[in-house]
Amino acid sequence: MKASKPRLLIFGPQGSGKGTQAQLISKSLHIPHISMGAILRKIQNDDSRLAKDITHYLDRGELVPDELTNKLIAVRLEKPDCKAGFILDGYPRNKNQAEFLSKTSQITILLVINLSDEEGVKRLSDRLMCDNGHSYHLHFAPPQKNGFCDVDGLPLFRRSDETAQAIKQRLSIYHQETEPLIDYYRRQPAVQIIDIDGNPPIPQVYQEIEKKLVIHDKAS
Ligand SMILES: [Zn+2]
Repeated sequence: MKASKPRLLIFGPQGSGKGTQAQLISKSLHIPHISMGAILRKIQNDDSRLAKDITHYLDRGELVPDELTNKLIAVRLEKPDCKAGFILDGYPRNKNQAEFLSKTSQITILLVINLSDEEGVKRLSDRLMCDNGHSYHLHFAPPQKNGFCDVDGLPLFRRSDETAQAIKQRLSIYHQETEPLIDYYRRQPAVQIIDIDGNPPIPQVYQEIEKKLVIHDKAS
């Protein structure tokens, strides 16, 4: 894969592995992986009012207000490493955010990882974590010692029911607000849309992405 200034978006429902794929693409194309989730989690570690607000939204599976995410993304995209291109993960999530983004950046590629809700929920429910928040996956990233964290030896547990409900809430937001953006980008001739089957294991999904990712950049 070779290109000048690829500016990618990656869409996919919860459990589709889009974060992992975005990381692999980022390495391969030498462009930053900009994850809205990671940006928000970093702020959550501060002892601030903003951190509490963000936790409130995320715990309930709700979207963080556009005003805030738009500001955060604008600041991030100004950084010099984005001059080479970027891959955005977890943003934009609705039309308002997409329109905001279009004022500063012409997207070149939209990758859509398709996975049924059923499979997504199943995959997420096989996630394990410890009290310190280190996470594992029964099939994709199992701990070395069954049932215990590699980092601190704490017992691992499955996510709570409350979190499962938050997952369902996020899935319904994805269908209602994010999926319609695929059509929004389909109407833009400069954007190439690539559909990916998210059902196979992660390495196979990545192979499909590599094969289909024929970078073009009309803007440069
Ligand atoms: Zn741990």
